[in-house]
Amino acid sequence: MTDTWKTRTKLVHEGSRRSQYGEMAEAIFLTQGFVYPTAEDAEARFVKAGEDEFIYARYGNPTTRMFEERIAGLEGTEDAFATASGMAAVSGALTSVLRAGDHVVSARALFGSCLYILEEVLTRYGVQVTFVDGADLEAWRAAITPKTKAVFFESMSNPTLELVDIRGVSEIAHANGALVIVDNVFATPIFSRAVDQGADVIVYSTTKHIDGQGRALGGVVCGTQAFIRKTLEPYMKHTGGSMSPFTAWIMLNGMATLDLRCRAMAQSAAAIATALEGHPKLARVIYPSLASHPQHALAMAQMGSGGTLVTFDIAAGKEAAFRFCNALDIIKISNNLGDAKSIATHPATTTHQRLPQDQKDLLGITPGLIRLSVGLEDTDDLITDLMHALDHA
Ligand SMILES: *Cc1c(COP(=O)(O)O)cnc(C)c1O
Repeated sequence: MTDTWKTRTKLVHEGSRRSQYGEMAEAIFLTQGFVYPTAEDAEARFVKAGEDEFIYARYGNPTTRMFEERIAGLEGTEDAFATASGMAAVSGALTSVLRAGDHVVSARALFGSCLYILEEVLTRYGVQVTFVDGADLEAWRAAITPKTKAVFFESMSNPTLELVDIRGVSEIAHANGALVIVDNVFATPIFSRAVDQGADVIVYSTTKHIDGQGRALGGVVCGTQAFIRKTLEPYMKHTGGSMSPFTAWIMLNGMATLDLRCRAMAQSAAAIATALEGHPKLARVIYPSLASHPQHALAMAQMGSGGTLVTFDIAAGKEAAFRFCNALDIIKISNNLGDAKSIATHPATTTHQRLPQDQKDLLGITPGLIRLSVGLEDTDDLITDLMHALDHA
């Protein structure tokens, strides 16, 4: 049945559940609880809830379940659990697995809040964390030992679009019995083949491409049924990080157009990267499908696309980068990504402001660096906006 469906069919129909009314659109079950016909039914459901039986929205809800089944179908995992935000997904995936005395190896280039969980939270509970240069397989090999319980990385890093070789790291991790947890936001669920490449657990902030219109925070963890229902769900449902049914409904609607949007954005991003490369005011343009990207071949093998973000370095530094941002018209200054609206971010003073200078240097976050999340506007209009703003840089 649905196993034979291709991506765009799954994105529209997978996981649909209809009530007795046969509604066409996915219904929002805006209810925290569920009524049992008899006390015996209540007892039976608490022993083991069936496929269409729910107990409490923190444990599960029909609208949220539709979203979980749709994203699991897309990602190619057995199951998924939807969370209140991307960070609830990242912290849940890590914390539900780890305990005091365990060892984790993580890539160093991480979203700020992910870094906080690994560096500040997990270590407080006795988990030992080793950070490595994610692009260096030898560094992973040296750090992962039979004592390593899990490895964690963003498959494409923020903001310098550096790739981690999912297959390579997974082989090393699995040889040592470690679980591979991948934050796959920048790769998008459309360009992801992380499961085929060996990842065990895939985490998304659905706030980004899956919503795609900047409306709601959300997250999801995808994995085997055993991991999702036996390890993650007990932790999530008791600690309170579940997704609300209203958010799940927004995400379900976002998914219907996810493939079209990600492909259109990536096509624009490639055209923009090509147009910007070699511009006299830019020290460099980073985009994985450009031949100049140091991991071009890996990006094409791993994602088959350069993705929806382009990063570039304005050679004259911070003041020039600010003049550039302030001269943009269509492209907005903000810090979300994956949105229909194109967004320019100056990482050094916003998303990565708190990092000490040596960390910024290590991660290539220069004073002139701009991260551009390419939206759905006309490509030529975006290029005109960028070129005009560069004149002011
Ligand atoms: C945005 C983001 C997160 C956090 O997601 P929220 O929905 O904001 O909680 C985690 N990882 C990456 C790579 C992100 O871009």
